[in-house]
Amino acid sequence: YAAKKGGTRHAVYKEEMGTRALERLRLENDLRRAVEDPAGSGFRLHYQPKLGLATGEISGVEALARWDHPERGNVPPEVFVPLAEETGLIVPLGEWVLGEACRRAVEWQGLRPSRPPGISVNLSVRQLRQEDLVERVARVIEGSGLPPEVLSLEITEGLMLENEESILAKLQGLKALGLGLEIDDFGTGYSSLSYLKRLPVEVLKIDRSFVEDLTENPEARKVVRSIVDLARALNLSTVAEGIETRAQLETLKALGCELGQGYLFSRPVPAEEIPPLLTLGPDPSTPEPAS
Ligand code: C2E
Ligand code: MG
Ligand code: MG
Ligand code: MG
Repeated sequence: YAAKKGGTRHAVYKEEMGTRALERLRLENDLRRAVEDPAGSGFRLHYQPKLGLATGEISGVEALARWDHPERGNVPPEVFVPLAEETGLIVPLGEWVLGEACRRAVEWQGLRPSRPPGISVNLSVRQLRQEDLVERVARVIEGSGLPPEVLSLEITEGLMLENEESILAKLQGLKALGLGLEIDDFGTGYSSLSYLKRLPVEVLKIDRSFVEDLTENPEARKVVRSIVDLARALNLSTVAEGIETRAQLETLKALGCELGQGYLFSRPVPAEEIPPLLTLGPDPSTPEPAS
């Protein structure tokens, strides 16, 4: 009886595996079709403000892809981003995201001309492997009319392991276009100091996992402190991800972190919600009195 039961369970298990594989295949097919016309297939961008922690002013926004699948409803980025990376579909999807974000950012430049808001876009390692990435990015920026200085590309620390000269050359090529480069999820990879020093980046984004533990775990505090010190030594600035509480904010300010993002300030929101946020905070036309 036990053997029979086990056998049945095995069969059910196999069937579940089959269903999951099939499901993945279907989603992959949907994604493959969707990247041909992302906007027409439910893709759109949300934007999350990045703020100066001392002033509370929005320095820019990060574009984050969303997928409202016509039949499945919302497919979260944790599902479609890894699938897009594995299949290489992140390359056309990422290029669409870049164009879309640049066109939006152009609209927002005029809202605060004295301090033009920045726009950050996530760049996949798969995109960095494209031979003609620099030319492609140049074409997209030019097509949008965005001044390249307001654009930053976020690259996850994972790629640092690779230590490839070709990647370094591409980063330098991007840099030469006039845009900025940031290391995303910093602290989760194992980039060596010597490699970090060679990278043409300006910003380290402190991974959310450290921010989350900041007020309870003294070790997380030490990690954040050393990232901020490291950034200072290399002349880079720091952005903390995932700030959810006042206590986290106060600790980050005390540690000298300059910028931050998180639900405490704003979730990623549709483009229409950004303009009113840009004009909040200290009035850009009246500089703060010197203290
Ligand atoms: P990321 O670039 O590190 O983006 C930050 C993620 O943290 C976003 O998740 C954001 O919604 C979330 N987040 C921000 N503040 C908070 C907070 O206070 N608490 C919590 N719990 N979460 C917060 P999202 O939008 O789900 O994106 C997840 C990841 O997917 C991104 O991580 C990025 O690696 C990737 N991704 C999203 N859009 C794109 C894209 O257009 N291209 C590429 N290559 N990757 C993308
Ligand atoms: Mg990012
Ligand atoms: Mg990040
Ligand atoms: Mg992260």
